[in-house]
Formats: sequence, C-alpha cells, structure tokens
Amino acid sequence: MIKIAEVDEVLRWLASFEVACQAHLEWLNRVHHLLLFHRAPDAKLMVEDAHCHCDFGRWYVSSASRELGHLPGLIEMEGAHLEMHRTASVMFAATLETGAVPEPEYDAFMMRVTRLGALIRMVQSEAWALISTKDPLTGLFNRRAMDSFIAGRRDAPAGSVVAICDIDHFKRVNDTYGHVAGDEVLRQVAGCLREQVRAQDMIFRYGGEEFLIVFNDVDLTLDAALCERLRSALAEHDITIQGSHTIRVTASFGVATLPASGDFLSAIVRADAALYRAKDEGRNRVAVAESPTHPSSTLPPSS
Ligand code: GH3
Ligand code: MG
Ligand code: MG
Repeated sequence: MIKIAEVDEVLRWLASFEVACQAHLEWLNRVHHLLLFHRAPDAKLMVEDAHCHCDFGRWYVSSASRELGHLPGLIEMEGAHLEMHRTASVMFAATLETGAVPEPEYDAFMMRVTRLGALIRMVQSEAWALISTKDPLTGLFNRRAMDSFIAGRRDAPAGSVVAICDIDHFKRVNDTYGHVAGDEVLRQVAGCLREQVRAQDMIFRYGGEEFLIVFNDVDLTLDAALCERLRSALAEHDITIQGSHTIRVTASFGVATLPASGDFLSAIVRADAALYRAKDEGRNRVAVAESPTHPSSTLPPSS
C-alpha cells in the first residue's frame, strides 16, 4: 500500500510538478517554432540523453520528483518522456536531411506528446488522491475517508473495536489560548493518538475535536484496555503551544466492539452513546458500550 504522505508535503510536490509541466509546454512550443520557421534544432535536442537536458527532465532527475517516487504513474511517465525525446530527435534529423517535416515522424512524435500529457494528468490525480482522504490540520484520515471506509466495511467480519474520542473542555482551550493554539493542540493530540496505535489501526478526524479510532484484528475483550492506554498517554502528554507554554488536555472515550453481523454503523452509534456516559460520569475516562441487542422478531418472516 502507498504510504500516505503528509498533506503539505504533497501540496509542495504538486506545485513543483506544476512548474515542471509548464516548462514542458514551453519546450513543446519551442519545438513547433523551430519546425514552423525552419530553424535548426538546438544541439541539446539531438543528443542521446536529450530527456535529461530539458527543464522537465531536470526536475525529473532532481530529488524533488523522488519525494513521491512511489506514485505508480511516475515510472511510466519517465519512460514516456524519454520516448518523446527520442522521437523528437528522429523527427529533427529527418527534417534536416529532407528540408521538410516528414509526416510519419511528426505523427509519431505527437503521439508520444499526447501519451506523456495523459500520464502527467494521471500522476497529478494520483497525488491528489493521496491527500483527498487526509485532514489538512492533523494529517489524520478525514471524514470523507471515514465514510468510504464505513461503506466498504458494511458487512465486514467481527474482530474490530471502534472508539470515539472527544477532547474534554476543548472550548476552554480556545477561549483561554486562542484558536491558533487550539489548532496546535488538535495537531499534537492527533500525533499522540497516532503514536499509540498499530499500523493496522485507523484514526479518523470525525468532527472538530472528535476522533474515530478503529482497532483492527484485536482480542475483543481488550476493548477498554486499548482505549485506556490512549487515554492515559494523552493525559500525560505535554503539549507545547505558543512556542514555549506547556499544557495538558484529557479526552473521554466511548468504545464498542463490532457485532458479529459486522454492522459498523451500529458500533459507532453504541460507542457514541458510551462517550456521552463517559462525559456524564466526569470525563477523562473510558466507557464501554452495552453489548448489541440482536435483531429479533421485527425481521420479516422468511417465506
Ligand atoms: P466536552 O468536554 O463536553 O467535550 O466540552 P468541549 O468544550 O470539548 O465541547 P464543545 O462541543 O462545547 O466544544 C468543542 C470546541 O471545539 C468548540 C469549537 O470551537 C472547537 N473546535 C472544533 N474544531 C476546531 C478546530 O479545527 N480548531 C479549533 N481551534 N477549535 C475547534
Ligand atoms: Mg465534541
Ligand atoms: Mg469535547
């Protein structure tokens, strides 16, 4: 699976890719100018490694492109770029030899240009897909990712524990230190939670200061213990705001096991009810949901 990069990192990468793509368009304009006005091609258009001498190619071999080197489209795009340069130099060699642009060579070149353009768009959408599921503030999966995860898990087998975590008295943090500091607290709470879960677990930013945590492939009897670990880690976590000021926050947790039916939404509803209980009972605690009531006589009789 692709490692999901941080949102800012991907955005910076996309901006540098955009500059490289613009340089590619300028290169293409120059090629057409040379062909239309019967100008001799620049020497660097004709060399064997011409694909490394254009600005797009220079970006390609730089470290900038490697930061998202795992995007599947990038490797294909590298090959297509090389091929396009090869056909360009064949086309220019034939033009020099005959004094006119030969149609088959021009068509072959433009076919490669079109293919490269399609791959560029593919790489851009691959990069956007990486961040469309991420919350820009915390870097956690966002609500959109959560909804599609739930839709995909509608009939999943049991073996998961679902928890909703809500920061206690978070409004006070904003009121006391301001919203910028509040944002920093959210970022650091998210980082603290993420450090406590395993790679196969998932954390989504459910709403403002609420997070949905899905513990996958776990012993269901450990439901409370899993959240208790998160709760105590957060309560002891020093959060630095405004450069030097250190504060601590706590959170309440509602936890529910996924029922045998695999109904994910019902587990969320039960976890949410348990969260309300944790708040009512004093906050900074974990409340476990009642076990699910099994569907019974309300089901239509089978024919
Ligand atoms: P409780 O213990 O009952 O959960 O109290 P609370 O203050 O945490 O809950 P309440 O729902 O009253 O307030 C939540 C606050 O979270 C209000 C809202 O302004 C703040 N909030 C939501 N999203 C963000 C955000 O992205 N950044 C900041 N700074 N604050 C946010
Ligand atoms: Mg809340
Ligand atoms: Mg809260």
